[in-house]
Amino acid sequence: MSVPNGFVAQVERSFDRAAAHLEHDPALLSQIRTCNSVYHVSFPMRRDDGSIEVVHAWRAEHSQHRSPTKGGIRYSMAVNEDEVVALASLMTYKCAMVDVPFGGAKGGIRIARHAYSEQELERITRRYAFELVRKSFLGPGVDVPAPDYGTGSREMAWIADTYMQLNQGDLNGIACVTGKPVSQGGIHGRTEATGRGVFFGIREACAVGEDMKAIGLPVGLAGKRVVVQGLGNVGYHAAKYLQEGGAVLVGLAEYEGAIYDAGGLDLEQVVAHRAETGTILGFPGATDVPETAKALELECDVLVPAALERQLTDENAGRVAAKIVAEAANGPTTAEADEILRRRGIMVIPDMYLNAGGVTVSYFEWIKNISHIRFGRMQRRFDAGSHARLLHAMEGLTGKEFAEGEVGRLARGASELDLVDSGLEETMVVSYREVRETWRRRDGDVDLRTAAMMVAIDKIAAAYEELGIFP
Ligand code: NAD
Repeated sequence: MSVPNGFVAQVERSFDRAAAHLEHDPALLSQIRTCNSVYHVSFPMRRDDGSIEVVHAWRAEHSQHRSPTKGGIRYSMAVNEDEVVALASLMTYKCAMVDVPFGGAKGGIRIARHAYSEQELERITRRYAFELVRKSFLGPGVDVPAPDYGTGSREMAWIADTYMQLNQGDLNGIACVTGKPVSQGGIHGRTEATGRGVFFGIREACAVGEDMKAIGLPVGLAGKRVVVQGLGNVGYHAAKYLQEGGAVLVGLAEYEGAIYDAGGLDLEQVVAHRAETGTILGFPGATDVPETAKALELECDVLVPAALERQLTDENAGRVAAKIVAEAANGPTTAEADEILRRRGIMVIPDMYLNAGGVTVSYFEWIKNISHIRFGRMQRRFDAGSHARLLHAMEGLTGKEFAEGEVGRLARGASELDLVDSGLEETMVVSYREVRETWRRRDGDVDLRTAAMMVAIDKIAAAYEELGIFP
């Protein structure tokens, strides 16, 4: 199944590097590494002009050591079995690392999304969902997709609707997919979750004085010069929160080109310019970089690839000028490039950890769906009331009164968004510390990617043991 030098081979190399530092039974390691099942389906699709086209699609379930399996669905011409299996395996390790109790999966449809009308995309998506249901590759306790490259809440709503039509009376049916619109069983904070998690992860890495000193950077996010490749869901939100957190966006790249301004670019103005002119190029005051891949070599402190895999290769890794590569996309660095970055002392914050915010909040959405209640509904008013009573008691004790309206402002109960954001931040902070501890304990022997993989493998091995599912 593994293509020589393909994406699966790349993930397996980083698995093997981590496994070599651990003492698990080789047969168990082999079971963890192997993809359990892959489904390749092709079906005919009628275009709006009446012609018929054959569409190819895949779903891979890498590991069922936890159920359901979980992972996004992408629409891209680059989708193939090697890519889907590699991304599914990354999902297994990612979920384990951030303590999300799912196995890994991934799906993809090989289409050029922009070449289809909305009606055509709906027909393709619903047919794909139907095929997955037919083979038991979709369901709230079986396999739960989410958005990925080229898909969003609209596609997730079509999938949920198709599943529910085919499974009437399934009380938990709406939990068959996450990343849905809030009005259709989604959760506040899912859309921005991956990018927000990327921000929390970079902030954590930059907060450790010892690590920043080792790469010659000052502590903290403030003033860090950032380049972001890809302004889709992940890249846009990562850039937004990094800018709000005090970082300076010096470079932004899209498929048509990139722009650079050492003094900083205003994200919303760039997005508005692109919407108006159809291109990121020509933004007032910025320098155009027509060959977009050159954005990866721009002068900056933090490079955030947030588009697709295999962007940093043995060809360009030697010219990366950043001190930190923060992998917002899945697999943006090839194994050869990873080696070059390691030799050059560049800190790589691995995808497996850094973009785990999406699946973390998807987990919250799934819990919300199967528990049939919005987060905060039970306690929000109770908390607000007890905080207010405490503040009034303080007034009584001190003999001083809060300013008009202050008690109301301070005594707020948490909304669903507050709780989701808090759970996401907690996950990204705790996981970073866990990975860093493994990294530092090995004292330069392993890098962050290997440390993250080691944490993941240990947790999966423990799950096998706990469940008694390995003979
Ligand atoms: P998206 O489709 O919303 O955005 C991708 C963006 O990258 C698009 O704007 C596209 O035009 C741009 N792009 C494509 N090729 C480019 C190039 N060569 N140079 C510059 N820009 C380019 O996709 P997304 O959901 O943001 O996913 C991006 C990456 O993040 C993928 O690797 C995906 O697997 C990963 N990821 C996504 C999520 C999620 O929740 N959406 C979660 C985890 C990981």
